[in-house]
Amino acid sequence: ANRAELPAFDGAGRLADGTEVPLLSNVGSGEDAVAAAAANAQGVGLLRTEFCFLGKDTEPDHEEQVAAYRAVFEQFPGRKVVVRTLDAGADKPLPFLTDDSEPNPALGVRGYRTDLATPGVLSRQLAAIADAAEATAADVWTMAPMISTPAEAERFAALCAEAGLKTPGVMVEVPSAAVLAPQLLQRVEFASIGTNDLTQYTMAADRQLGALAELNDPWQPAVLHLIRTTCDGGAAASGRPAPKPVGVCGEAAADPALAVVLVGLGVATLSMNRRALPAVAAILRTVDAATARRLADLALAAGSATEAKAAVRAELPDLD
Ligand code: PEP
Ligand code: MG
Repeated sequence: ANRAELPAFDGAGRLADGTEVPLLSNVGSGEDAVAAAAANAQGVGLLRTEFCFLGKDTEPDHEEQVAAYRAVFEQFPGRKVVVRTLDAGADKPLPFLTDDSEPNPALGVRGYRTDLATPGVLSRQLAAIADAAEATAADVWTMAPMISTPAEAERFAALCAEAGLKTPGVMVEVPSAAVLAPQLLQRVEFASIGTNDLTQYTMAADRQLGALAELNDPWQPAVLHLIRTTCDGGAAASGRPAPKPVGVCGEAAADPALAVVLVGLGVATLSMNRRALPAVAAILRTVDAATARRLADLALAAGSATEAKAAVRAELPDLD
């Protein structure tokens, strides 16, 4: 069925056997949050907080940040909202925080790393997130982008605790974080895989370069292996409740066939553009957990992204 014929998402992501796979939305503004709630997203799996910072010459003050985050949280009472702290640099330059004369901005002082060069912005942001969370009924989780080591995860968790935020997590976007996922997940409560950056860094292929689109594809078996490693790390780390959840919030989650593979690799929740919710929900209802695992193994064994995609699609007759 094509997108126009699909029924709206009913707000309950699950497999054919009833296994729940919460489907969340990526959100980049208050308006986006309103639209995501109207599309029955089960929460927000990635709040890109850059909307509050980009295009500004100076850091937004506490009240401005609280109001911006609150507008999003208010749309999801009793629901999970995963807030990503500021991810400036590379494809998201910010004059007061990042240096656009770096020779390789994608490998430079970006994401969590800006806190080392310019301390304070991150702690002030965490304080604003905490105050906004306090004022609403949303279940607010907080994660840092571009974490590369377990020590960074530990420090981020400490900063969250200082701010009174109780569910710290990390994005897995750098291969080193995926490789050491068990150690990372001993230090935080959850991980969310950013497949856009994880693919770029695993394949050494610039995500902004169309000429490398074939390499820069989350279907690349090497990327899928790192996703499995990360999920295994979550399963090995005991949490509240065990195991610690690993989600995906990159574009990969919005590709219906790939969403099945991600679930088969052990991904617990998928977060996507709200427009992808109906198609992803529909395909997940056609497979059980054992089938998802089998398709994940097929993709892992492929010799290229193209082969992985073809092998999986051939097994999903209900795909349009
Ligand atoms: C990602 O890298 O997959 C991600 C979700 O973050 P962004 O696209 O904002 O870099
Ligand atoms: Mg990213």
